[in-house]
Amino acid sequence: MLTDVEIAQSTVMEPIKNVAEKIGLTEDDLELYGKYKAKISLETIKKVENNPDGKLILVTAINPTPAGEGKTTTMIGLSQALHQLGKKSIVAMREPSLGPCFGIKGGAAGGGYAQVVPMEDINLHFTGDIHAITSANNLIAAMLDNSIQQGNPLNIDTRQIVWKRVVDLNDRALRHIVVGLGGKPNGVPREDGFDISVASEVMGILCLSTSLEDLKARAARMIVAYNYDGEPVTVDDIHATGAVTLLLKDAIKPNLVQTLDHTPVFVHGGPFANIAHGCNSVMATKLAMKLGDYAITEAGFGADLGAEKFLDIKCRQAGLNPDAVVIVATVRALKMHGGINKKELGTENLEALKKGIGNLTKHIENIKKFGLPCIVAINAFPTDTEAELKLLDDMCKELNVEVSISEVWAKGGEGGIDLANKLLNILETEESHYAPIYSLDMPIDEKIKTIAKEIYGADDVVFTKKAANKIKKFTAQGLGDLPICVAKTQYSLSDDATLLGRPEGFKVTINDLIPNTGSGFLVAISGNIMRMPGLPKVPAANNMDIDEEGKITGLF
Ligand code: ADP
Ligand code: MG
Repeated sequence: MLTDVEIAQSTVMEPIKNVAEKIGLTEDDLELYGKYKAKISLETIKKVENNPDGKLILVTAINPTPAGEGKTTTMIGLSQALHQLGKKSIVAMREPSLGPCFGIKGGAAGGGYAQVVPMEDINLHFTGDIHAITSANNLIAAMLDNSIQQGNPLNIDTRQIVWKRVVDLNDRALRHIVVGLGGKPNGVPREDGFDISVASEVMGILCLSTSLEDLKARAARMIVAYNYDGEPVTVDDIHATGAVTLLLKDAIKPNLVQTLDHTPVFVHGGPFANIAHGCNSVMATKLAMKLGDYAITEAGFGADLGAEKFLDIKCRQAGLNPDAVVIVATVRALKMHGGINKKELGTENLEALKKGIGNLTKHIENIKKFGLPCIVAINAFPTDTEAELKLLDDMCKELNVEVSISEVWAKGGEGGIDLANKLLNILETEESHYAPIYSLDMPIDEKIKTIAKEIYGADDVVFTKKAANKIKKFTAQGLGDLPICVAKTQYSLSDDATLLGRPEGFKVTINDLIPNTGSGFLVAISGNIMRMPGLPKVPAANNMDIDEEGKITGLF
């Protein structure tokens, strides 16, 4: 079996201008980054604004386990399959972060024969968007500290600075630091810290904005600190709006690359799916809908986090109307939800699979609550036995949901033909009645309770004193109409990572709320949310290398 990077390297890519031609774009529409990557110009985006919309399909999954689910792989393979059926399909996906890449995850540009290339570039520096976001974020941090240094005219309370510095690596030693040491010329000493770049609100606003003007307006509104009267200090207050937008002038343009089958893919934006909303950019998603008959996109983690935020935040803000949802499930992950540990996954275990199905059932119910047609894609792994695949297929049929066994990882587009055909049938015969799960004019606590009860299956929500005070404060400040972005563990439907399957009889605790006024949502925090991951004992980076000819190994 070849590794992902070996499969990717054995593909002869097409020049990106040929890929662009397939969706009606000429070289004039492209800003080339070498031969195989291009950004789409803002003029082109304006030009196609009035094209009719293609269908919008979301790929989501059951709660992730260390066994892996394969949303990205399934999304890419599905698009390859649609092309094999003669359909004009475009993927709009997230750009991977360097942190997880060198940490546990390795590459995140699909897997097996369902990949996006050039995978090395996409996984590394790509077209520099994340670097631009890092710079924009850190310019704000520098200007903020400079304002304090130069007499602090904004009366900033240095104990209430909420803007962190960022770097796009997993580096736990930077989580808590002290800056400004060394005496008067070197700044005002204060506690600070680094987040990973993809957790920056700059990533959030880049992904939710619809134009450069919108991006600028969102940048201006971001809160960086509070003054001694407890009032928010924004990016605009420190006069950074223009410069920040300037640094993002190219990052805002969607990037075009190709699948192993040379079909078009936009890779653009990649916010964290816990502290942020976990979806690729609105601009790339819209562009995929304008240029393709089918736009396929993905949201991070399981459907309780990614899909919920896609449907309640991204689609609502951007006025998108999704048409169908693909829920990815694997035999392996469901066996883990059924109580089996990772080491025993190689052995057939039908009982565990039966026990774990509750997790999938809940996500199917949830997608239906949003009024959306859905199909389960069983992402087949080499270790799955025929009996296990058949049992899962049968159980889905019993649940009255369309299901397909997808073999795109092993076979590329060909392995997704059945999935593609069934999806096309759903799109033709079932209507989407998409509606968010809560309305914006509900009180903040009611919105959070609705998500917890309806989507997670919780009995109730407990608000700590701190969280309750924040709710009061934000409501008084006129932020009560914002949607909610819940930050909680991805491993469980509950806020307890160890409760797998379909937990019942639990309460969700909200400890804190953070206003992301640029992104336009309130982050409700449950548990300890990691904004700067650490490296594992043996980081993926240990096994990566490049030889004299530039051949890369170990990038999964
Ligand atoms: P997600 O988007 O849900 O995080 P990915 O599609 O990125 O998942 O897949 C995670 C990892 O699992 C990748 O390394 C990929 O190659 C691997 N993988 C995905 N599907 C399969 C499969 N059917 N068989 C074996 N490995 C797979
Ligand atoms: Mg993914």
